[in-house]
Amino acid sequence: MIQLANRMENFDLPENPYLLLTPGPLSTSVSVRKAMFRDWCTWDSDYNQLIQEIRRKLVALSTDKKGYSSVLMQGSGTFSVESVIGSAVPEDGCLLVLVNGAYGQRMATIATKLRINHLVLDFGEINPIDPEKLEKQLLLNPEITHVAMVHCETTTGMLNEIALVATLAKAKGKVFILDTMSSFGGIQMDLDELGIDFLISSANKCIQGVPGFGFVIAAQESFEQCKDIARSHSLDLYDQWKTMENNNGKWRFTSPTHTVRAFHQALIELEEEGGVATRFKRYKKNQKLLRKGMESLGFSCLLPKNLQSPFITSFIFPDDPEFRFDKFYQLLKKRGFVIYPGKITTTDTFRIGNIGEVYETDIYRLLEAIEGSIYWKKNVDKVSSI
Ligand SMILES: *Cc1c(COP(=O)(O)O)cnc(C)c1O
Repeated sequence: MIQLANRMENFDLPENPYLLLTPGPLSTSVSVRKAMFRDWCTWDSDYNQLIQEIRRKLVALSTDKKGYSSVLMQGSGTFSVESVIGSAVPEDGCLLVLVNGAYGQRMATIATKLRINHLVLDFGEINPIDPEKLEKQLLLNPEITHVAMVHCETTTGMLNEIALVATLAKAKGKVFILDTMSSFGGIQMDLDELGIDFLISSANKCIQGVPGFGFVIAAQESFEQCKDIARSHSLDLYDQWKTMENNNGKWRFTSPTHTVRAFHQALIELEEEGGVATRFKRYKKNQKLLRKGMESLGFSCLLPKNLQSPFITSFIFPDDPEFRFDKFYQLLKKRGFVIYPGKITTTDTFRIGNIGEVYETDIYRLLEAIEGSIYWKKNVDKVSSI
């Protein structure tokens, strides 16, 4: 009989057929994927210790101030967003959602489905959040208790300015909820300094883990204030936090053990890279090269530089009646790159992410693949001259 151990011995990690240039799940390191090679008991104390270490590290990534805590939540990032909205806004509260893309809109949808009293301030898909309009809304609607927005709107790749919004919200005593899904771990931010009450992100974005859970970072007392508010049992943020808090890292229900183990490894690799500041520099370099290269190949970016995040970029379809995104996508996939379709309604776009185990050499290879595609125009610069 073949023993399981023997079967494992000669097992080589299969090579990835393509590099993911998407905003998550993204390409992870071999060592992160290898960390999933062991089975873990979801209730065991060794495993729970791992959880405690992860929770501490997440807090440390977000602030040096004392009094902060974190909680992990099963599911994709949206589950954590829903958990926060459904557990933080009380029955007599009112949530103001600032929208400039699909993920902001998703928060409003969550509020609608949970029958939470809310208002939406929509700035349109390609406009930054206007603090003056926010201030006006807050004055007009004193019943607002919570303000929610997205940091990097992955829909377009826009990096929203959070300091001004946070300051306005705080000055009027509002609770500030921030979806930092596609930015946390890739850009430095201090939760305490900024005045963010609930910060939400997930395992498979800038920390470079694999999908399966999200997390929320907040002050201990912010978690306490969520007691008995949740509209859902499985997404009860307070219960989940309290169980982890009181039982040394225990999850309420079955946890994504392999994903958690991979995330633990991803956090070590973030430290090894030099922390968030160094990772930010790598992403920024990747994005800069991508933009420059694509522009020299005749493509235009959707957003001006000052609104562009270093994580994902939207490109406008080339002015070429022959251009078909599907064909372009398949062509690049054959050459080892997976890109992302666009998501806005007003302009035809596609998106290219540059987060994950992605380096400048990969961006050069991508540009060469695009240059070699049928959409290469003879009258533009060669990649080799960038
Ligand atoms: C990825 C992402 C989410 C969560 O999406 P899931 O598919 O649920 O993981 C939420 N907000 C933003 C801004 C994102 O980029």
